[in-house]
Formats: sequence, structure tokens, C-alpha cells
Amino acid sequence: MLANQLWERTCERLKKIFSAEVYRLWIARIKVLDYESNNLSLGVWDEFAQLWFKENYVSALEDALREITGESITVQVQVVSFEDHSEPSAEQESVPPKEDPAQNTDNQQNSAPAIPPTVYTPRAAAEVQNVLNPKYTFESFVVGTNSNMAHAAAMGVAQNPGKSYNPLFIYGGVGLGKTHLLHAIGNRVIDNAERAGKQVRVVYVTLEKFLNEYIEAVREQRCERFRRKYRRVDVLLIDDVQFLTGREGLQEEFFHTFNELYNSNKQIVLTSDRPLSEIKKLEERLVSRFSWGLVTDIQPPNVELRMAILKQKAKDMHFQVPEEVCTFLAQKIRANVRELEGALIRMGSYINLTQASWSIETAKVALQELLSRQVAQAPNIEDIQKKVAMTYDIRVSDIISKKRPANIAFPRQVAMYLSRELTHQPLIAIGEAFGGRDHGTVIHACKVVENQMDVDDNVRDTIQKLKNELEF
Ligand code: ADP
Ligand code: MG
Repeated sequence: MLANQLWERTCERLKKIFSAEVYRLWIARIKVLDYESNNLSLGVWDEFAQLWFKENYVSALEDALREITGESITVQVQVVSFEDHSEPSAEQESVPPKEDPAQNTDNQQNSAPAIPPTVYTPRAAAEVQNVLNPKYTFESFVVGTNSNMAHAAAMGVAQNPGKSYNPLFIYGGVGLGKTHLLHAIGNRVIDNAERAGKQVRVVYVTLEKFLNEYIEAVREQRCERFRRKYRRVDVLLIDDVQFLTGREGLQEEFFHTFNELYNSNKQIVLTSDRPLSEIKKLEERLVSRFSWGLVTDIQPPNVELRMAILKQKAKDMHFQVPEEVCTFLAQKIRANVRELEGALIRMGSYINLTQASWSIETAKVALQELLSRQVAQAPNIEDIQKKVAMTYDIRVSDIISKKRPANIAFPRQVAMYLSRELTHQPLIAIGEAFGGRDHGTVIHACKVVENQMDVDDNVRDTIQKLKNELEF
């Protein structure tokens, strides 16, 4: 069968499986690239689409292909250039009508003197620095599985503002890089515009600042100016929208600004330290608008990513931090990236003052307060598996596999034991995480390990060391 034929038939099936919306936004936009030796290559428009597609649709697609051909066909998704990045034209129909008649009665719109909005052109580069932090770029953002979706979506938005995911809503706990990504979008949009010799208006504002400006504008009866400023931007980056909580006047204003920008295909990116459902007293109509585009989150980084971030930051700050100190910090400071960065800066200045060396001892002294504030957090099973695999010099995939040779079986039992001791997971969940074993296997593993610890000092020491490193 030819690639196109196969794809057409697959699409017919997918139409029945997915909602019309999903079909139109995702499936219908796909390009078929190639079909050869049971491999179907598909092209999507950006990295985010690639990730999203892989995570959400590939397995359904492979099922459909199997049903059609009776063979198992692997689907590959790659990013290719799409000349037309815009969504299918049907999308236009779903753009809601303007709901605010008042905003059109702005008869001063053309006659009032233009206030300088935050316009960024090549010549206004200095202004950029005041608002957008030039250090917060995509290049300086260390991506891990905790943030790859948000990162890819942000890149997609920066490359094609207003055209791919609008609005983009990024949420996640404090210090996990939301503001960094928001600035990175702004910086990239401006870079691209500069390169193309175009003008672009990018405004980055915290919701708090937006609120203050609004209050001031109301007080000084300069609402029109305020509106014009925000409603003529190309890319509006609003940080920390959780502060919308309960602020009715502001929500109203925000709603209209949002509509105006959205209806003219301007890009809006919002961040929040919690999901939409947890922003109290957020009007239903705002919740619904914020979810129109793409909602994506950033999770706390795991220990490897914390290591990677520390190394990157140390390099940026020109600190020579030995591996063991990085490991120590990455293990101890788990909550967020801001604290990791803070630890490095604080330790750096301490060392500068005292001429101490970069050592764990120094870290303990310089970061005493920070370290004591760290709430003990249970390591997760994945962390444990990785740590055990490293210690016993085997692969994580071996630990999860069905293989039984002793050099794998015992470390696997150790990992199960540590999972029971250190995580608060039920035995069933632990078994599940070890390649779908049952809870009886976990209980057995724990007994084996406990017995070994009684009879073999080496085993006891190794496990004690593992425990110390995993928890603190
Ligand atoms: P948030 O807005 O989510 O509270 P920030 O964006 O202010 O967090 O991030 C806090 C600090 O941590 C910033 O200095 C930022 O550069 C840094 N940071 C956060 N995540 C990353 C990351 N993945 N890679 C590099 N630096 C990061
Ligand atoms: Mg922030």
C-alpha cells in the first residue's frame, strides 16, 4: 500500500476514535512522509507537537495501522518544515465573538496621543534589558523530563507567535523556571524579529504590576491609555496569574484584554504557580479562555536534572565545583531550581570571603541554614532504581526486566527493599514499578535483603550508604 493510501484509511479510523477537535487540530495537520518496511514516517510542525503526538496519539495510531494492515507498523514522528503554520481555517470559525461592546466605543483610540508601549525594535535594544532578563533564554534552560513539554511548547510559541498554541498556560511550583521560560519566549521573539528586520511589541508583566497599573489608571482616569498599551501588543507575557484570585475588577479588565488580543491572533502566554482549577475565585469564563490553547506544567526536577542544572550554573558562574560537591547539593536540595542556584551563589561568596575550598565540609558550613530548612522528602522509586543500578554497575532496564541472574536479581531486591523503606508507596505500586511484579515478590525481596544484611557486613554497609545518600 502506498503511504498516502494507508494514511487515508488510517485517518478514517482515527476520525471515529478521536473527537472532532482533536482530529482537526492534530491528526488532520499531519504530513505523511514515507512508508517503507513497516515504518510509517509522519511529519509535524514543531517539537512540542512531536512530543505531544508521541505521548498521546502514537499508540492509538499503531493500533489502527495493525487493524488495517494486519501487520505491526512502527510510527515515527519528526519535525518538518510547514510552510503554513496556522491552524486549519475551520479554526477561525471557533474564534468567539467579541463580548465587550464597550471596548469598541473607544472613540479616543485614534485621536489620543500615542503612548509609547513597550516596543522592541533593533534600536530599542536597551529597553529590552530593563524588562526581559537577557540571561533567561532557551539556551540557558536545562531541559529534563519534568519540563520538556513546557519547554517545547514555549519554543513553538516563540517561533510562531499567535499561530500555534494560544494562549499557552504554564503552571508549576515556585522556582521551577516559569519566569525563565516566559522571558526566553520574549527574548527569542525579539531576536527573530531583529533578524528579520521587523518590529514586534513584546510586553512582559507580572499580574501584580498589571494590577497596579490598572488601579492607577482607574484613579487617574486614564483607562484608555492603559487599555491601548496592553491591547496593541503582539506578544503578551503575563507572569503569576494566580494573583487574579478574587480580584473582580481586574478579572473583567483582563478578560477584555484577553479577548481583544486573542481575536487579533496575538500571542498570550500565562504562568501560574498552580493549576487553573486551584486558582480560587477565578471566573469561569477566564478559566475557559485560559484553557483554549495549551495547558502544560513543570514538575520538580529529579536528582539527575538537579545535577545537570548545578553543573550548568557552576559553569556559567565560573566556579570549579567538584563532582562530589555537586552530588551532595543535588541530593540535599530537592525542592526547586531557585534554591539550587541560591546555594551555589551563597557557597561561592562564602568561599570568596574565606578562601575555603569547594568541599562538602564547606557546603555544610556555608549552607547550614538552607540545608536545615530542607524538609525531608521521600525519594521516589525511580531515584532508588537509578541509584542502585549505579552502585551495582547494572542498568535500570535490568532492574525492571524479567532477567534472573544473581548479579541482577540481588540488586533488584535491594532496590525493592529500599523502595519499601524509603518511599511511602504501597507494595503493589512498588511491584508495579519493577516491571509489573506482584506484592508477594516485594515482600520476599525485603526478607532476602534483611537476611543478607544480618549475615554480611558488606551488604549492610552498602545498603546503609545507599540509604544515607537517598534520604537525608
Ligand atoms: P518560577 O518563575 O517558576 O518561580 P524562575 O523562572 O524564576 O522560577 O526560576 C528560578 C531560578 O532558577 C532562575 O534563576 C532560573 O534561571 C533558574 N531555573 C529554573 N529552572 C531552570 C532550568 N530548567 N534550567 C536552568 N535554570 C533554571
Ligand atoms: Mg516566577
